Amino acid sequence: MRILIVGAGVSGATLARSLADAGNPVRVVEAKPHPGGHCHTERDARTGIMKHAFGPHIFHSDDMDVWSFVSRFAEFRPFALEVKANVAGRLFSLPINLNTLNQFFGRQFTAEDAQAHIRNLSVPLDHDPRNFEEQAISSIGEALYNAFFKGYTQKQWGRPPDQLPADIFKRLPLRFTKDNNYFHHSRIGIPQEGYTALVEKMLRHPLITVEYDTKFRRDGGDHEFDQVFYTGGLDAFFNFEFGRLPYRSLRFEDFIVTGDFQESAIVTYPDPEVPYTRISEHKKFAPWETHEKSLCSREFSFECGENDVPFYPVNLAAGSALLDRYRYEATQLRNVSFVGRLATFKYLDMDVAIGQARHAAAVTIGCLTTDLPVPAFFQP
Ligand SMILES: Cc1cc2nc3c(=O)[nH]c(=O)nc-3n(C[C@H](O)[C@H](O)[C@H](O)COP(=O)(O)OP(=O)(O)OC[C@H]3O[C@@H](n4cnc5c(N)ncnc54)[C@H](O)[C@@H]3O)c2cc1C
Repeated sequence: MRILIVGAGVSGATLARSLADAGNPVRVVEAKPHPGGHCHTERDARTGIMKHAFGPHIFHSDDMDVWSFVSRFAEFRPFALEVKANVAGRLFSLPINLNTLNQFFGRQFTAEDAQAHIRNLSVPLDHDPRNFEEQAISSIGEALYNAFFKGYTQKQWGRPPDQLPADIFKRLPLRFTKDNNYFHHSRIGIPQEGYTALVEKMLRHPLITVEYDTKFRRDGGDHEFDQVFYTGGLDAFFNFEFGRLPYRSLRFEDFIVTGDFQESAIVTYPDPEVPYTRISEHKKFAPWETHEKSLCSREFSFECGENDVPFYPVNLAAGSALLDRYRYEATQLRNVSFVGRLATFKYLDMDVAIGQARHAAAVTIGCLTTDLPVPAFFQP
């Protein structure tokens, strides 16, 4: 069986390692000169700080299979993320919790009082919320929505929140405790030497061959493989035949200060007048290191054009006929599996991407040992 994996991000590397561990030789092609994909980390030459090149990445999971898999390739240091929102110059804890509510309303609520207060603020609808804005206002009311979500969401997605799906808001926690931790998973950490070193180690196996600076094209000889696992853009696979799927891209404006810059590793800026969405302070993602200087990145979101890097797939409340079309085309192919965040056009956290790639590899290995055809498309 000749297996090709397109992309050396966490999805491609997980597939490669899982298949190789089961005795299958694989070839990996990666367009970039390094592995790690979107999770790429590198030392900043000016400060020596480990930089999260495409935005801050914190590993968080309740999936013990995924956790024991990744732990083979890196030492994870425990990491507690606290995020602050800068609203009109005042810092609040995110996601919204009892501390946020007390500070915002200038009160000392108990959990029960706060719940009752939010119930009073929420605006009842006579139908199920149809979009982000309706979901937000019917859950937390206008004041909190306007302060923390309206401007941020518009900047992040470049669309009015009433065009975005209600699901995005439903995924945001609202807590009635004084716990400022952003994530509540059983395993939360950051690999000591960064994600790129982790992925490099995953790919270090005698049955894995990796070619960097090598871009896969569908008409570029992939027919010589029995099975292709593709982790690039779904629309790019089809050479954008039906049009481009909508993505948001990010631009980072780096700056260096002496000492520390901000209270927490990530500070978001929901105010519409501020052109960026958040500032990350990279050395705070490696609190076990000491650095005199500090490297920070302001994050600007914009609509992804032809020559930009796709970051976030844009899913609209109204759905997408274009996405349906590409998905249909993908299911018609034999021997090509679409895995990972770009190929499935979904925002996937790392642990979910790794879990799905582990599943895809397990199904493939099962087919190989029983001589069954490998299913062509894995949809999350
Ligand atoms: C700003 C931001 C912050 C995030 N923060 C977190 C976080 O804190 N925690 C978390 O769990 N997740 C986070 N994520 C999600 C995380 O980035 C993804 O889970 C992860 O990148 C998925 O890996 P992947 O391999 O599927 O895709 P990618 O990382 O995109 O890898 C795909 C690889 O394929 C290569 N490729 C594409 N097309 C081709 C081609 N034609 N030929 C050859 N190579 C090709 C690309 O160069 C790339 O290396 C964040 C995402 C973003 C956008």
